[in-house]
Amino acid sequence: MTAVDHVTARACRVPTPEPETDGTLGWDATTVVVVEVRGAGVTGLGWTYADAACASLVEGVLAGVVVGRPVLDVPACWTAMRRAVRNLGRPGLVSCAISALDIALWDAAARSCGLPLCRLLGRVHDSVAVYGSGGFTSMSDADLRAQLEDWVGPGRIPRVKIKIGGPRDLERIALARETVGADTELYVDANGAYSVGRARRTAERLADWDVTWFEEPVSSDDLAGLAQVRASSSADVTAGEYGYDLPYFARMIDAVDCLQVDVTRCGGYTEWRRVAALAAAANRDVSAHCAPNLSAHAGAATENLRHLEWFADHDRIETLLFDGVLDPTGGAVSPSMSVPGHGLSVKEDVARRFEL
Ligand SMILES: [Mg+2]
Repeated sequence: MTAVDHVTARACRVPTPEPETDGTLGWDATTVVVVEVRGAGVTGLGWTYADAACASLVEGVLAGVVVGRPVLDVPACWTAMRRAVRNLGRPGLVSCAISALDIALWDAAARSCGLPLCRLLGRVHDSVAVYGSGGFTSMSDADLRAQLEDWVGPGRIPRVKIKIGGPRDLERIALARETVGADTELYVDANGAYSVGRARRTAERLADWDVTWFEEPVSSDDLAGLAQVRASSSADVTAGEYGYDLPYFARMIDAVDCLQVDVTRCGGYTEWRRVAALAAAANRDVSAHCAPNLSAHAGAATENLRHLEWFADHDRIETLLFDGVLDPTGGAVSPSMSVPGHGLSVKEDVARRFEL
């Protein structure tokens, strides 16, 4: 009864209210692959924001090496998964699939012990600072202003981030600063849209609006370019959201001020912990990228966590599909210390409406 005995995965596709774009991509829906594991009398839940193809990876090759292992041996399950995908290629969808299953396994392990997940992971922080994230380049100025006002007004979130990488970047940054006032931290994310030259010229101007976070000024594949921008930028240069394994982050660490880690891409909580240690060794913070309700538990258990991205799309989807979501009002979230696991569960009637 203490072994993992069943693994299921399904994909839900949730349309956005309006088409959305950032500096390098547009979308009108988001797919979330939801994974559940059963064993030791409990069900563990995880998910990843990735293509529906992840579901067959989870139920096939990954379930094949996890079922039968002790529920509490999550790192052993993770190691078996990593080995099993050697010929499939770890980065990309494969790592997203591993992440969702690893998260579900950690949740099951915590529930089987009757412990909150962040307690099992080893809690460091009572609460985790969040920043409001959205500000798509496709938004009208009025919509951008309304979203920012919502975060800093009723939301009382003292950190916000907008997308840049379009033709009106400086105007939109000025609008954002005017809207949020002087006391709110203002961040920008170019999603790799700039050349090194344009990024350096933009970095010079960011100080005019006290922008302190310049995310993916150039492609994350251009580590030399990131380092060049960092050398002349007063704002912190950050990247890492496309990191699917530990060596990726090791290669990137010298090119950025803060590593962004996505727990639903990097390899789940198991790999997250190793990435955070890597960053700590280089005197860097990590910041949690997206999937806010899953990231919060890793963040609370990470000494060198800077903050957690409260991404508007994922906030909406997680509130829609799951019970037990956290409330970012006030600018921080505190995972419950009285609920086993991460405390999240699928709203079955809603999930069925969006299932592919
Ligand atoms: Mg980003």
